[in-house]
Amino acid sequence: MTAVSLRMPAVQVPDLRDFTLPELVEWIAGLGEPPYRGGQIFRWLWKRQVDRFGEMTDLPVRCRELLEAQACVSRVAAVSVQSSQDGTRKLLLGLSDGERIEAVLIPEASRLTACISSQAGCAMGCGFCLTATMNLHRNLRPAEIAGQVVALQSVLAPGERITHIVFMGMGEPLANYAATEKAVRILIAKAGLAFAPRRITVSTVGVIPGIRRLARAGLGVNLAVSLVATTDEVRNRLMPINRRYPLRELLQTCRELPLPPRRRMTFEYVLMADVNDTSEDAERLLGLLKGIRCKINLIPLNEAPEIPFRRPSRQCIEAFQKILQRAGTIATIRESRGQDISAACGMLAVAETPLDTQHSIPYTPRCGVEQLGSSLGS
Ligand code: SAH
Repeated sequence: MTAVSLRMPAVQVPDLRDFTLPELVEWIAGLGEPPYRGGQIFRWLWKRQVDRFGEMTDLPVRCRELLEAQACVSRVAAVSVQSSQDGTRKLLLGLSDGERIEAVLIPEASRLTACISSQAGCAMGCGFCLTATMNLHRNLRPAEIAGQVVALQSVLAPGERITHIVFMGMGEPLANYAATEKAVRILIAKAGLAFAPRRITVSTVGVIPGIRRLARAGLGVNLAVSLVATTDEVRNRLMPINRRYPLRELLQTCRELPLPPRRRMTFEYVLMADVNDTSEDAERLLGLLKGIRCKINLIPLNEAPEIPFRRPSRQCIEAFQKILQRAGTIATIRESRGQDISAACGMLAVAETPLDTQHSIPYTPRCGVEQLGSSLGS
């Protein structure tokens, strides 16, 4: 006999955490409520992080009943937390359809950076990145992107506060542009999490239309471009996106971007032995970046059995950095954090293995989805 799954059908009501503040105001006004209710609800959802309409005590009972019938509120649930010796924490997060993603907390001297994902998996196919081996499962919704910050906040120790957010987890944010932009708007809203835009960085493989759109949106967030190679030949090989948006066009786009005073964009350069680590590469890199106010983040490759490249020697990495610095460029070496828990750059990938649900936070079934545990088969 075949087992029949008694899943509840998905309820087609909006998830209020997908809305930016103006969208929420418009939506609630469309139901005949006063527009200021939108602000009230937004504060409950993001500032106080309340998920249940019944707890939104400054809303009239009639309005709460309306919300129960017409809307739902999703939550990104922490399934497990892994802690690295260096203080980095990686969260495995469960989404309402059972999809899983990862997000990372990286403590540094005076900051605590949240590294969040924009997609479950990734379609970009970069040959040196472990997330690429998953392929794309699906785009994340705004609620699921911004909700990762709330999930990360829930595991902070007393006195800890997230100071910076980087879109450097799983996925390509600009290949999920609309949701990424909305998530940023939610994160920076004063009535919500109220992050300063200059403390948020969106990183991209170089999706030119997305870079232009993000600039036009005028959100004031930082841009990082994963450059990784200095010739089209090598970049085509490492990053398939380069065939669509080659180096010259990509850098011309960056050159034309309006940058606020004193702000620099970032170029990430993953260093791989005998691939892109020669002094000629360093010189070419300087040539390519001429006229762009930027800094360079050198990331020594994090190795994995699935990745057919190696990390250069320390000596080679430092020699590369020196060439850039001697020319007056800001070039830092990003010491990868959380390597012992596979939380380092390019190492985020969710295996299809049974989960450790030991530290899971109970998941409230809403929006017509089953309890997280059951959808994960535990
Ligand atoms: N898709 C976006 C956002 C992800 S950021 C982007 O690529 O920019 C992830 C960063 O980790 C990128 O700069 C990427 O180049 C880098 N990375 C990927 N695989 C890596 C690896 N194996 N070792 C070190 N860095 C890696």
